[in-house]
Amino acid sequence: MTAKLIKGTDIREEILAEIRAEVEKIKKERGVVPGLVTILVGMNPASVSYVTAKIETAKSLGFHEVQDSQPPDLSEKDLLALIEKYNKDDTIHGILVQLPLPKGVNEKKVLNAIDPDKDVDGFHPVNVGRLMIGGSEVKFPPCTPAGIQEMIVRAGVETNGAEVVVVGRSNIVGKPIANMMLQKGKGANSTVTIVHTATKDLASHCRRADILIVAAGVPDLVKPQWIKPGACVIDVGVNRVGEKVSEKTGKKVAILKGDVDFDAAKEIAGYITPVPGGVGPMTITMLMKNTLSSLKHKLGIA
Ligand code: NAD
Repeated sequence: MTAKLIKGTDIREEILAEIRAEVEKIKKERGVVPGLVTILVGMNPASVSYVTAKIETAKSLGFHEVQDSQPPDLSEKDLLALIEKYNKDDTIHGILVQLPLPKGVNEKKVLNAIDPDKDVDGFHPVNVGRLMIGGSEVKFPPCTPAGIQEMIVRAGVETNGAEVVVVGRSNIVGKPIANMMLQKGKGANSTVTIVHTATKDLASHCRRADILIVAAGVPDLVKPQWIKPGACVIDVGVNRVGEKVSEKTGKKVAILKGDVDFDAAKEIAGYITPVPGGVGPMTITMLMKNTLSSLKHKLGIA
């Protein structure tokens, strides 16, 4: 293997330790801690497991954590009233509504009801606009793109003037990470190209990339010959390609694969993220960072 492995599992621990230290300091000096509420409507098993992971991480950092579980038949009106309650609650700095919501509830209306200054997922149109403007306007960069940028920076990869190619144009990964990488400043200032399903020659664009960020959701889409020797390859894709029995638990678990042919790509790239253990662990970590940041904004110390 020639590429340096960028492990999200290691970077996560570094960042969580930094957050923990800051939380302790603020608690000591100002007597407050970041407050996060997770609203879960119904008991979708995947949602329960995501919410549990968020709650446990928040608790391990010393946050004030409120877990608000609601019945599956909660009306849209009642959910909007609940959000309004947390919008007004001074002990809460981040509000998360776990998706998907039950049928008949307008997700867009619900997410747009969250106070943009407590929208730690960064999906509210106000925060999308702030991200587009960049610089000090940005309050909550969306968590997966923020994690990607953090990995690139902490790996010591030069972004200034770099050719960045992003595969995928979703609102949660492709578009925001492209926008973040083109802003002026540290960890950015790159020349950015976004490619997608209508792009004519995907390979030729990818081959130009000093930093290739792939978020397509297609296993092994990126072939080794599409990678510039020495490039930094960030594989965001998480694709279930089968099942296996876990050696640890003896239970069936999904076999996960990224969007990049990892085994071949690692012989050409300079840096590469694995799947699993790469970008995946960064998302919840950055959610915690955004919640801390929300409190710091409120205290005027951000
Ligand atoms: P999405 O389906 O919303 O968007 C995929 C994008 O890729 C689309 O814009 C599409 O145009 C493009 N695309 C798809 N097939 C393509 C092809 N053959 N050639 C070129 N472009 C193509 O997906 P998303 O929500 O952005 O997620 C992308 C992947 O990243 C998924 O595998 C998802 O599971 C994963 N993901 C991981 C994390 C994490 O690790 N924390 C977070 C979000 C998404």
